[in-house]
Amino acid sequence: MFGKILIANRGEIALRVQRACREMGIRTVAVHSEPDRDLMHVKLADESVCIGPAASDKSYLNIPAVIAAAEVTDAEAIHPGFGFLSENADFAERVERSGFAFIGPRPESIRMMGDKIAAKVAMRKAGVPCVPGSDGPLPEDPAEIHRLAREIGYPVILKAAGGGGGRGMRVVHTEAHLLNAVSLTTAEAARAFGNPALYMEKFLETPRHIEFQVLCDGHGNCVHLGERDCSVQRRHQKVIEEAPAPGISAEQRRTMGARVAQACQDIGYRGVGTIEFLYDAVAQTFFFIEMNTRIQVEHPVTELITGIDIVKAQIRVAAGERLWLSQDDVQLRGHAIECRLNAEDPERFVPSPGQITAWHPPGGPGIRVDSHIYAGYRVPPYYDSMIGKLIAFGSDRDEALARMRSALREINIEGIHSNIALHRRIVDDAQFAAGGVHIHYLEALLDL
Ligand code: ADP
Repeated sequence: MFGKILIANRGEIALRVQRACREMGIRTVAVHSEPDRDLMHVKLADESVCIGPAASDKSYLNIPAVIAAAEVTDAEAIHPGFGFLSENADFAERVERSGFAFIGPRPESIRMMGDKIAAKVAMRKAGVPCVPGSDGPLPEDPAEIHRLAREIGYPVILKAAGGGGGRGMRVVHTEAHLLNAVSLTTAEAARAFGNPALYMEKFLETPRHIEFQVLCDGHGNCVHLGERDCSVQRRHQKVIEEAPAPGISAEQRRTMGARVAQACQDIGYRGVGTIEFLYDAVAQTFFFIEMNTRIQVEHPVTELITGIDIVKAQIRVAAGERLWLSQDDVQLRGHAIECRLNAEDPERFVPSPGQITAWHPPGGPGIRVDSHIYAGYRVPPYYDSMIGKLIAFGSDRDEALARMRSALREINIEGIHSNIALHRRIVDDAQFAAGGVHIHYLEALLDL
C-alpha cells in the first residue's frame, strides 16, 4: 500500500479523500491555491504545498506544479478527485511517466471516454444500448446533417464530443433551426473544450437519468455496485441523487449491471467509473449517454447501500490489489438520498461566495454530512459553488426521505445564501416523494 498520497483537488472531495487515507494509515499531501490555504483538509494534511494563485489554470490545473509538489514531498500516488485534472488523460500519463501511481483509470480509458463519440462506439461494440443518433461525428455537408436529423426524428440534441459538466449541448426542435444551432454549438465547443466535433442524438423528452457504478481492478476483474437515480437536475446538472433507483427491479439491475461490468472488462478498465444512461420508464429501456472515469459527487449514496467505501476501493486497486469481492458479495441494503449543498442565490442560482458566520450540520440516525465548511470559513468566488453534501440513509426510501426532511430543517448556514430552501421544497413535493421523476421535472416545478 502507498505510504503517502497527494490530493490534487480542493473542498469537499479533497477532505473525503483525506479521510479515506487517514483510515488506511496513509499520509497526505494537500496542494492548494493561494486563497485556499484555509481549507479544512489543508489544515489537517500531513504536508501542504501552495501550487499557485487563485485562477485554476495556474493552480489546480497546473500539471507541472502538481507533479513538482509530488516530487518534493515524496508522495507515491496522486488522487485527482473530480473536476479539475481528474479526466485529463495527458495528466494521468504524465503522473505515471513521472513515476507516481495515478489513482484512476489508465490514460487510454480516460482518453476514450473523454471523447463521447469514441465512448459510444466502444460501448455499442461491447453490447451496451445507446441513444439513437449519428454513429460518429456530424458530417460537414448541410444536406447530410438535415438528412441525419430527419432520420433520427425531431427533437434532436447536438452534443459536443469533448463536452462535460452539462455544457456543450443544444436541443433542436425544427429543421429551420438546425444549421444555425450546429454552427453555434460547434463554435462553443471549440472555445470551451478545444474540440469542435459534435454528434447528434434523439432528444428524449421525459427520460430518467440512471447510472451504474463499477469497480474494476487492474487484473481484468470488474463488479458493479448497483445504480443511482440522478434525475433531479437543473440545466443538465444534478441537484439530488439517490440509490437504488425507484422502480428498477432486481432483474433489471442484474441484467444491466452485468452488461456494464462486462463492457468494462472488455475495454480493460481499471478503477471506479460510472456508466450513465437515460432510462425510458414506459418502455423500460436504458440508453447509454456517457461514461465518467472518476469518483462522482454522488458516490456516497452507493456507499451507504452497499457498505463499500468507494474511495478506499479506488486506492486499493490503484495500488495493484486484486478485487477482494465478487458480484455476489455486493448486496444492496436500504435506501440513500443525497442533496448537493451549493453556495448560491436561491432565486437566480448564481454563486453566493462570502464568509460563513454560523454553521450547524444536522445529525441523528442515518445522516451523513460530507463538507469542508466551518464557521468563519470564507467561500471563495473562484471555484465551483458546491460546499458539501447532505446524505440520508434509511431502511427504505420513505425512511431515508423522512430523515432527509428532518435534517433539512435542522441544517443552518449563515452568512451566505444556499440552496437549502430549494431542497426543502423538492423533498416536500408529492411527485418527488412518489419517486421516479424525469430529468425535466425540477425545471417544470420551478417554472423555468
Ligand atoms: P455531461 O457530460 O455534460 O454531463 P451528459 O451526456 O452526461 O453530459 O448529459 C447530461 C444531461 O443532459 C443528462 O443527464 C440529461 O439530462 C441531458 N441529456 C443528455 N443527452 C440527452 C438526450 N439525448 N436526450 C435528453 N436529454 C439528454
